Amino acid sequence: MYYNSIIETIGNTPIVRLNNVNRGIRGTILVKVEYFNPGNSMKDRMALKMIEDAEKDGRLKPGGTIIEGTSGNTGMGLALTAIAKGYKCIFTLADKQSQEKIDILRAVGAEVIVCPTNVASDDPRSYYSVARKLNQDIPNSFYPNQYDNLSNTLAHYETTGPEIWQQTEGKITHYAAGVGTGGSMCGTAKYLKEQNPDVVSVGIDTYGSVFKKYKETGVFDENEIYPYLTEGIGEDILPKNVDFDLIDHFIKVTDKDGAIMTRRLAREEGLFVGWSCGSAVHGALEYAREHLSDDDMMVIILPDHGTRYLGKIYNDNWMKDHGFYEARDFATAKDIIT
Ligand code: PMP
Repeated sequence: MYYNSIIETIGNTPIVRLNNVNRGIRGTILVKVEYFNPGNSMKDRMALKMIEDAEKDGRLKPGGTIIEGTSGNTGMGLALTAIAKGYKCIFTLADKQSQEKIDILRAVGAEVIVCPTNVASDDPRSYYSVARKLNQDIPNSFYPNQYDNLSNTLAHYETTGPEIWQQTEGKITHYAAGVGTGGSMCGTAKYLKEQNPDVVSVGIDTYGSVFKKYKETGVFDENEIYPYLTEGIGEDILPKNVDFDLIDHFIKVTDKDGAIMTRRLAREEGLFVGWSCGSAVHGALEYAREHLSDDDMMVIILPDHGTRYLGKIYNDNWMKDHGFYEARDFATAKDIIT
Protein backbone atom coordinates (compact mmCIF):
# COMPACT_ATOMS: atom_id res chain seq x y z
CA MET A 1 0.00 0.00 0.00
CA TYR A 2 1.36 3.43 -0.84
CA TYR A 3 0.23 7.04 -0.93
CA ASN A 4 0.13 8.98 -4.18
CA SER A 5 1.84 11.96 -2.58
CA ILE A 6 2.83 13.18 0.86
CA ILE A 7 -0.37 15.18 1.33
CA GLU A 8 -2.42 11.98 1.46
CA THR A 9 -0.72 11.30 4.82
CA ILE A 10 -2.29 14.39 6.42
CA GLY A 11 -4.61 13.65 9.37
CA ASN A 12 -5.46 10.49 11.31
CA THR A 13 -2.99 11.38 14.04
CA PRO A 14 -2.79 9.29 17.23
CA ILE A 15 -4.35 10.08 20.59
CA VAL A 16 -2.19 9.25 23.61
CA ARG A 17 -3.00 9.16 27.34
CA LEU A 18 -1.04 11.39 29.71
CA ASN A 19 0.36 9.39 32.61
CA ASN A 20 2.62 11.70 34.61
CA VAL A 21 2.14 15.46 34.27
CA ASN A 22 -1.52 15.03 35.27
CA ARG A 23 -0.81 13.18 38.51
CA GLY A 24 -3.47 13.94 41.15
CA ILE A 25 -6.04 15.08 38.57
CA ARG A 26 -9.18 13.01 38.12
CA GLY A 27 -10.49 11.68 34.80
CA THR A 28 -8.68 10.43 31.70
CA ILE A 29 -6.54 13.08 30.03
CA LEU A 30 -5.67 12.40 26.39
CA VAL A 31 -3.63 14.39 23.87
CA LYS A 32 -3.96 14.40 20.08
CA VAL A 33 -0.40 14.49 18.77
CA GLU A 34 -0.53 16.60 15.62
CA TYR A 35 3.20 16.47 14.88
CA PHE A 36 2.48 13.14 13.16
CA ASN A 37 1.26 15.18 10.18
CA PRO A 38 3.86 15.35 7.37
CA GLY A 39 4.62 19.04 7.99
CA ASN A 40 4.87 18.27 11.73
CA SER A 41 1.80 20.32 12.66
CA MET A 42 -2.00 20.37 12.59
CA LYS A 43 -1.77 23.30 10.15
CA ASP A 44 -1.31 20.79 7.29
CA ARG A 45 -5.03 20.04 7.60
CA MET A 46 -6.22 23.58 7.03
CA ALA A 47 -3.55 24.41 4.44
CA LEU A 48 -4.79 21.52 2.29
CA LYS A 49 -8.42 22.54 2.77
CA MET A 50 -7.80 26.24 1.98
CA ILE A 51 -6.05 25.25 -1.25
CA GLU A 52 -8.63 22.67 -2.32
CA ASP A 53 -11.56 25.01 -1.64
CA ALA A 54 -9.82 27.77 -3.64
CA GLU A 55 -9.26 25.36 -6.52
CA LYS A 56 -12.93 24.37 -6.48
CA ASP A 57 -14.27 27.90 -6.76
CA GLY A 58 -11.58 29.18 -9.13
CA ARG A 59 -9.67 31.48 -6.75
CA LEU A 60 -6.61 29.32 -7.46
CA LYS A 61 -5.84 28.15 -10.98
CA PRO A 62 -3.24 25.73 -12.40
CA GLY A 63 0.29 27.13 -12.15
CA GLY A 64 -0.80 29.76 -9.61
CA THR A 65 1.24 31.30 -6.81
CA ILE A 66 0.20 31.04 -3.15
CA ILE A 67 1.13 34.07 -1.04
CA GLU A 68 0.69 34.14 2.73
CA GLY A 69 2.10 35.99 5.71
CA THR A 70 3.14 33.11 7.97
CA SER A 71 5.85 32.34 10.45
CA GLY A 72 5.98 28.63 10.16
CA ASN A 73 3.40 25.90 10.51
CA THR A 74 0.85 27.18 8.00
CA GLY A 75 3.68 27.93 5.56
CA MET A 76 4.95 24.37 5.84
CA GLY A 77 1.48 22.94 5.20
CA LEU A 78 0.93 25.25 2.23
CA ALA A 79 4.38 24.43 0.82
CA LEU A 80 3.86 20.65 0.98
CA THR A 81 0.44 20.94 -0.63
CA ALA A 82 1.81 23.31 -3.29
CA ILE A 83 4.55 20.82 -4.21
CA ALA A 84 2.02 17.99 -4.59
CA LYS A 85 -0.25 20.15 -6.74
CA GLY A 86 2.28 22.17 -8.76
CA TYR A 87 1.93 25.68 -7.29
CA LYS A 88 4.59 28.21 -6.30
CA CYS A 89 4.71 29.67 -2.78
CA ILE A 90 5.85 33.07 -1.52
CA PHE A 91 5.80 33.70 2.23
CA THR A 92 6.37 36.97 4.01
CA LEU A 93 7.47 36.91 7.61
CA ALA A 94 8.75 39.30 10.27
CA ASP A 95 12.47 39.49 11.00
CA LYS A 96 11.94 38.46 14.67
CA GLN A 97 11.37 34.91 13.41
CA SER A 98 14.23 32.46 13.85
CA GLN A 99 16.59 31.64 10.98
CA GLU A 100 15.55 27.97 11.32
CA LYS A 101 11.97 28.81 10.37
CA ILE A 102 13.14 30.70 7.28
CA ASP A 103 15.50 27.86 6.36
CA ILE A 104 12.76 25.22 6.78
CA LEU A 105 10.40 27.05 4.42
CA ARG A 106 13.18 27.60 1.86
CA ALA A 107 14.12 23.90 2.16
CA VAL A 108 10.69 22.97 0.81
CA GLY A 109 11.05 25.34 -2.12
CA ALA A 110 9.19 28.43 -0.91
CA GLU A 111 10.41 31.96 -1.59
CA VAL A 112 10.67 33.76 1.75
CA ILE A 113 10.59 37.56 2.08
CA VAL A 114 11.78 38.87 5.43
CA CYS A 115 10.07 42.11 6.55
CA PRO A 116 10.76 44.43 9.51
CA THR A 117 9.06 43.47 12.80
CA ASN A 118 8.89 46.89 14.40
CA VAL A 119 6.40 48.55 12.05
CA ALA A 120 2.62 48.82 12.37
CA SER A 121 0.62 46.16 10.50
CA ASP A 122 -0.74 48.82 8.09
CA ASP A 123 2.79 50.12 7.31
CA PRO A 124 3.63 49.22 3.67
CA ARG A 125 6.79 47.42 4.89
CA SER A 126 4.94 45.05 7.30
CA TYR A 127 4.66 41.41 6.38
CA TYR A 128 0.88 41.75 6.10
CA SER A 129 1.14 44.69 3.67
CA VAL A 130 3.88 43.08 1.59
CA ALA A 131 1.80 39.89 1.22
CA ARG A 132 -1.26 41.91 0.12
CA LYS A 133 0.78 43.97 -2.37
CA LEU A 134 2.35 40.86 -3.90
CA ASN A 135 -1.12 39.34 -4.22
CA GLN A 136 -2.29 42.45 -6.13
CA ASP A 137 0.77 42.60 -8.38
CA ILE A 138 1.39 38.92 -9.21
CA PRO A 139 -1.07 37.54 -11.76
CA ASN A 140 -2.83 34.26 -10.88
CA SER A 141 -1.87 34.54 -7.21
CA PHE A 142 -3.95 33.45 -4.22
CA TYR A 143 -3.81 34.92 -0.71
CA PRO A 144 -5.38 32.32 1.65
CA ASN A 145 -5.57 34.62 4.74
CA GLN A 146 -5.82 31.92 7.39
CA TYR A 147 -7.39 34.27 9.97
CA ASP A 148 -10.59 34.98 8.10
CA ASN A 149 -10.74 32.06 5.64
CA LEU A 150 -13.44 29.72 6.98
CA SER A 151 -11.95 26.72 5.16
CA ASN A 152 -9.61 26.72 8.17
CA THR A 153 -12.45 25.92 10.62
CA LEU A 154 -14.04 23.56 8.12
CA ALA A 155 -10.85 21.46 7.87
CA HIS A 156 -11.09 20.68 11.58
CA TYR A 157 -14.86 20.19 11.44
CA GLU A 158 -14.36 17.59 8.71
CA THR A 159 -11.26 15.81 10.03
CA THR A 160 -10.05 16.59 13.59
CA GLY A 161 -13.54 16.48 15.15
CA PRO A 162 -14.64 13.17 13.61
CA GLU A 163 -11.25 11.57 14.40
CA ILE A 164 -11.52 12.53 18.09
CA TRP A 165 -15.13 11.32 18.27
CA GLN A 166 -14.18 7.94 16.78
CA GLN A 167 -10.92 7.55 18.71
CA THR A 168 -12.70 8.16 22.03
CA GLU A 169 -15.72 6.06 20.96
CA GLY A 170 -17.91 9.04 21.78
CA LYS A 171 -16.74 9.13 25.41
CA ILE A 172 -15.08 12.55 25.24
CA THR A 173 -16.55 15.02 27.78
CA HIS A 174 -14.06 17.92 27.50
CA TYR A 175 -12.08 19.34 24.58
CA ALA A 176 -9.21 21.81 25.05
CA ALA A 177 -7.09 23.67 22.49
CA GLY A 178 -5.04 26.83 22.16
CA VAL A 179 -6.74 29.60 20.19
CA GLY A 180 -4.85 31.55 17.51
CA THR A 181 -6.81 31.83 14.27
CA GLY A 182 -9.51 29.80 16.10
CA GLY A 183 -9.83 27.13 13.40
CA SER A 184 -8.71 24.09 15.38
CA MET A 185 -10.75 24.99 18.46
CA CYS A 186 -13.97 26.00 16.72
CA GLY A 187 -14.12 23.47 13.86
CA THR A 188 -13.47 20.57 16.24
CA ALA A 189 -15.77 21.90 19.00
CA LYS A 190 -18.59 22.42 16.50
CA TYR A 191 -18.40 18.79 15.36
CA LEU A 192 -18.10 17.38 18.89
CA LYS A 193 -20.97 19.49 20.24
CA GLU A 194 -23.16 18.36 17.34
CA GLN A 195 -22.54 14.75 18.42
CA ASN A 196 -23.02 15.53 22.13
CA PRO A 197 -24.08 19.04 23.19
CA ASP A 198 -22.71 18.37 26.71
CA VAL A 199 -19.08 18.34 25.50
CA VAL A 200 -17.36 21.27 27.24
CA SER A 201 -14.77 23.27 25.28
CA VAL A 202 -11.87 25.06 26.95
CA GLY A 203 -9.88 27.60 24.91
CA ILE A 204 -6.33 28.39 25.95
CA ASP A 205 -5.31 32.03 25.61
CA THR A 206 -2.11 33.95 26.44
CA TYR A 207 -1.50 37.01 28.60
CA GLY A 208 -1.22 39.84 26.07
CA SER A 209 -4.20 38.62 24.00
CA VAL A 210 -7.77 39.88 23.74
CA PHE A 211 -9.78 36.63 23.62
CA LYS A 212 -10.62 35.83 27.27
CA LYS A 213 -11.74 39.34 28.16
CA TYR A 214 -13.79 39.59 24.96
CA LYS A 215 -15.57 36.29 25.72
CA GLU A 216 -16.34 37.35 29.30
CA THR A 217 -17.33 40.99 28.75
CA GLY A 218 -17.98 41.47 25.03
CA VAL A 219 -15.43 44.31 25.13
CA PHE A 220 -12.44 44.46 22.78
CA ASP A 221 -10.02 45.89 25.33
CA GLU A 222 -6.81 47.30 23.84
CA ASN A 223 -5.27 47.36 27.33
CA GLU A 224 -5.16 43.56 27.17
CA ILE A 225 -2.68 43.77 24.28
CA TYR A 226 1.05 43.64 25.02
CA PRO A 227 4.00 41.65 23.63
CA TYR A 228 4.43 38.03 24.68
CA LEU A 229 6.63 35.19 23.55
CA THR A 230 4.44 32.08 23.13
CA GLU A 231 4.05 31.34 19.43
CA GLY A 232 0.78 30.44 17.72
CA ILE A 233 -1.86 31.31 20.33
CA GLY A 234 -3.47 34.56 21.47
CA GLU A 235 -4.18 37.49 19.14
CA ASP A 236 -4.57 41.26 19.08
CA ILE A 237 -7.42 40.93 16.56
CA LEU A 238 -10.69 38.94 16.41
CA PRO A 239 -10.25 36.50 13.50
CA LYS A 240 -13.40 35.32 11.70
CA ASN A 241 -12.46 31.73 12.57
CA VAL A 242 -12.99 32.40 16.29
CA ASP A 243 -16.65 31.67 17.08
CA PHE A 244 -17.03 32.64 20.74
CA ASP A 245 -20.31 30.72 21.06
CA LEU A 246 -18.39 27.48 20.55
CA ILE A 247 -15.83 28.18 23.30
CA ASP A 248 -17.31 27.66 26.77
CA HIS A 249 -14.35 28.87 28.87
CA PHE A 250 -11.01 30.56 28.34
CA ILE A 251 -7.93 30.02 30.51
CA LYS A 252 -4.90 32.32 30.16
CA VAL A 253 -1.43 30.82 30.49
CA THR A 254 1.86 32.73 30.99
CA ASP A 255 4.88 32.27 28.70
CA LYS A 256 6.75 30.71 31.64
CA ASP A 257 4.08 28.18 32.65
CA GLY A 258 3.67 27.12 29.01
CA ALA A 259 7.43 26.75 28.54
CA ILE A 260 7.93 24.69 31.70
CA MET A 261 5.02 22.37 30.89
CA THR A 262 6.40 21.87 27.36
CA ARG A 263 9.71 20.73 28.82
CA ARG A 264 7.87 18.42 31.23
CA LEU A 265 5.87 16.85 28.37
CA ALA A 266 9.16 15.98 26.66
CA ARG A 267 10.82 14.57 29.80
CA GLU A 268 7.90 12.97 31.59
CA GLU A 269 5.71 11.79 28.72
CA GLY A 270 8.20 11.44 25.82
CA LEU A 271 6.20 14.02 23.88
CA PHE A 272 8.76 16.32 22.19
CA VAL A 273 6.30 19.04 21.27
CA GLY A 274 6.11 22.81 20.64
CA TRP A 275 5.61 25.64 23.10
CA SER A 276 1.87 26.14 22.63
CA CYS A 277 1.42 22.44 23.48
CA GLY A 278 2.73 23.10 26.97
CA SER A 279 0.44 26.12 27.24
CA ALA A 280 -2.55 24.03 26.17
CA VAL A 281 -1.76 21.26 28.66
CA HIS A 282 -1.01 23.67 31.52
CA GLY A 283 -4.28 25.55 30.98
CA ALA A 284 -6.35 22.41 30.37
CA LEU A 285 -5.04 20.77 33.55
CA GLU A 286 -5.80 23.92 35.54
CA TYR A 287 -9.41 23.55 34.38
CA ALA A 288 -9.41 19.75 34.86
CA ARG A 289 -8.08 19.97 38.44
CA GLU A 290 -11.23 21.87 39.46
CA HIS A 291 -13.90 20.40 37.23
CA LEU A 292 -13.18 16.82 36.10
CA SER A 293 -14.50 13.72 37.85
CA ASP A 294 -13.31 10.11 37.49
CA ASP A 295 -15.58 9.27 34.54
CA ASP A 296 -14.64 12.34 32.48
CA MET A 297 -12.43 12.18 29.42
CA MET A 298 -10.59 15.26 28.18
CA VAL A 299 -8.79 15.56 24.83
CA ILE A 300 -6.15 18.30 24.40
CA ILE A 301 -4.73 19.20 20.97
CA LEU A 302 -0.94 19.36 20.75
CA PRO A 303 -0.37 21.44 17.58
CA ASP A 304 3.28 20.92 16.61
CA HIS A 305 6.74 19.42 17.14
CA GLY A 306 9.62 20.49 19.39
CA THR A 307 12.34 20.93 16.74
CA ARG A 308 11.37 24.51 15.91
CA TYR A 309 11.91 25.51 19.55
CA LEU A 310 15.36 23.98 20.14
CA GLY A 311 16.97 27.43 20.23
CA LYS A 312 14.37 28.73 22.67
CA ILE A 313 12.51 26.80 25.35
CA TYR A 314 14.57 23.62 24.90
CA ASN A 315 17.76 25.65 25.41
CA ASP A 316 18.66 25.97 29.11
CA ASN A 317 20.56 29.25 28.62
CA TRP A 318 17.64 30.81 26.77
CA MET A 319 15.32 29.65 29.57
CA LYS A 320 17.65 31.17 32.20
CA ASP A 321 17.90 34.47 30.27
CA HIS A 322 14.11 34.73 30.28
CA GLY A 323 13.73 33.82 33.96
CA PHE A 324 11.90 30.60 33.07
CA TYR A 325 14.49 28.17 34.40
CA GLU A 326 13.63 26.53 37.67
CA ALA A 327 16.41 24.27 38.85
CA ARG A 328 14.02 21.82 40.48
CA ASP A 329 12.38 21.20 37.11
CA PHE A 330 15.62 20.72 35.23
CA ALA A 331 17.99 19.12 37.77
CA THR A 332 20.71 17.06 36.11
CA ALA A 333 23.22 14.55 37.45
CA LYS A 334 25.85 17.29 37.19
CA ASP A 335 23.78 19.61 39.39
CA ILE A 336 23.41 16.86 41.96
CA ILE A 337 27.10 15.94 42.20
CA THR A 338 28.41 19.54 42.24
N1 PMP B 1 -0.08 26.47 18.21
C1 PMP B 1 0.70 26.67 17.14
C2 PMP B 1 2.14 26.28 17.21
C3 PMP B 1 0.18 27.25 15.97
O1 PMP B 1 0.98 27.44 14.91
C4 PMP B 1 -1.18 27.63 15.96
C5 PMP B 1 -1.71 28.31 14.75
N2 PMP B 1 -1.79 29.71 14.87
C6 PMP B 1 -1.97 27.41 17.09
C7 PMP B 1 -1.39 26.81 18.20
C8 PMP B 1 -3.41 27.83 17.19
O2 PMP B 1 -4.23 27.17 16.29
P1 PMP B 1 -5.44 27.87 15.52
O3 PMP B 1 -4.82 28.86 14.56
O4 PMP B 1 -6.15 26.77 14.85
O5 PMP B 1 -6.27 28.59 16.53
